[in-house]
Amino acid sequence: MTHSHPLHADVLVECLCCHASQPFHFSSSSDQVVCPYCARHLGDDRAVQRDAQHIALWASLLEDAESRFDDATSAAQVALDEADVRITVLTAQVGELSRIIAGDIDSAAESPSRTLLETEALGRARRRAELAARGNDAVFAALWAINARHGDAGALCACGEAITDCPDRSVLAPVRGRIADWEARNLALLAQGTRHALPAGHPAMR
Ligand SMILES: [Zn+2]
Ligand SMILES: [Zn+2]
Ligand SMILES: [Zn+2]
Repeated sequence: MTHSHPLHADVLVECLCCHASQPFHFSSSSDQVVCPYCARHLGDDRAVQRDAQHIALWASLLEDAESRFDDATSAAQVALDEADVRITVLTAQVGELSRIIAGDIDSAAESPSRTLLETEALGRARRRAELAARGNDAVFAALWAINARHGDAGALCACGEAITDCPDRSVLAPVRGRIADWEARNLALLAQGTRHALPAGHPAMR
């Protein structure tokens, strides 16, 4: 009797005797499709012994399958446990973030979430302050230019009016000190070679 299984390869084929899937390596199509285990009782007339050996084989195959199933089950359980831990951590983090957002930042103590949020908030505040400073710079640059046109020029205002007659001088008087501070700060920035807000018409820019 010949078979049509692949030759010269490791294959799993049903043994014609025990009917279990067994590893075979055929070198000829006339090889017996009987596993090495069954080869021991091949041609055995004692059916009882053959059946007993089959039952022992099936039992051990079943045990193998069960232990593989157990391994897979415990691996799945480990994965589930890990997921549980992760969910618990994330749930705690969500609760903590919710409390911080609700304004109860002190209850979060020195948690990583709080640090993260504070860093975020600090960065936003710094960016807002930078924008505000840039807006202030534009106003101060304009004030500086107006103030420069009303400086002291002997007995007269630089605009040509008598000092007592120039209406702009009295308007500028309360902010002259702040304009001078702003100018000094920006001259220092210019000297350092960093970003400053002095207008193009400033003497230091010529
Ligand atoms: Zn067999
Ligand atoms: Zn057999
Ligand atoms: Zn003037």
